[in-house]
Amino acid sequence: MQAISPETIFRGNNAWEDSLPHITKLTKSPLILGRCSHTQNLRNKIYFDLKNQNLEVNAVNLQFDCCYEDISRVKDIILKNNHDSVIASGGGKVLDSGKYIADCLNIPCVTVPLSASTCAGWTALSNIYTKNGQFIKDVALKSCPKILVYDHKFIQTAPSRTLASGIADAMAKWYESSITSSTINDGIVQQAIQISRVLRDQLLIDGKKALNGEFENNFSWSNTIEACGLTAGLVGGIGGEKCRTAAAHAFHNAITQIITPNKFLHGEIVGVGLLLQLRLEEMKNNNKLADQSIKQLLVLMKELNLPTSIAQLGINVFENQNLDKIADFTLREKSEIHFLPFEINKQDLIDVIVNFEHQIIKI
Ligand SMILES: [Zn+2]
Repeated sequence: MQAISPETIFRGNNAWEDSLPHITKLTKSPLILGRCSHTQNLRNKIYFDLKNQNLEVNAVNLQFDCCYEDISRVKDIILKNNHDSVIASGGGKVLDSGKYIADCLNIPCVTVPLSASTCAGWTALSNIYTKNGQFIKDVALKSCPKILVYDHKFIQTAPSRTLASGIADAMAKWYESSITSSTINDGIVQQAIQISRVLRDQLLIDGKKALNGEFENNFSWSNTIEACGLTAGLVGGIGGEKCRTAAAHAFHNAITQIITPNKFLHGEIVGVGLLLQLRLEEMKNNNKLADQSIKQLLVLMKELNLPTSIAQLGINVFENQNLDKIADFTLREKSEIHFLPFEINKQDLIDVIVNFEHQIIKI
């Protein structure tokens, strides 16, 4: 069995309004799940729109990340009040929490992404973190969300930083899936990987224009947010677990183990992980194109104001045994790094990170 896509998808400027009759049919007593204070107005609108449909609505906020503490607290609220669905409205952590909780309780989840920072509104996957934001594991869910509402007016209100982060995360799809795919004969998986190549090309063409332009009639913007929030999810849905993440996400997961005063977004860390993966491919797998890819990506990432080194994520790898911690977590038994088609050891990772941190400063 494969969870490919949400059952129903609404997209565009009136997606939320269009979805209301369908949501009303699906649920009588939804719980709205959110987090950030800057999305409170939008979540108030969602709350009152649902109330006006005569639904028994309640709302609750996550206190931390998508973590077991918040998950069990929200589960208890749902069971106590007999809610029959979760409406997860926010960024990736909120969407992942909502999907996970709904999956555990066998109730439907409606995802309403409020930024283009992630494709979590689409996928049947939740990443679980500690309450301090350290990655623990990803969990495959029984299905994708029942309804995905991708309302462009909602997404317009998100900070531009979230879009830049979504671009970096979506770009990683091609570089990660293409390197792990060389031994896969499944045609559907190969086709999914080719979609991720077109997705990357679209982001290279439109990414900067999307971030700098106005929203009205800006096709670069609408193409880019849909690429990050929808197409990236579709690639994961069709490709399934064989269309895998690889080193970029393995580096992300390891970097989150080090707690920093300023938190960075998922895609911002994945972007740095992607540059490290390409350097690893160049140094350990003799991939001559990897250096070109790094140069091409660096231009875009700087235009988008994305971090391009671990130092820019607020971590000095040469302090507090951070280098060891990152290398050890990247190499742990369950890490995605082992999907790479070549062997690596701890020293390889240390060489790549040290080389990268020194070199990137000079570029
Ligand atoms: Zn990701």
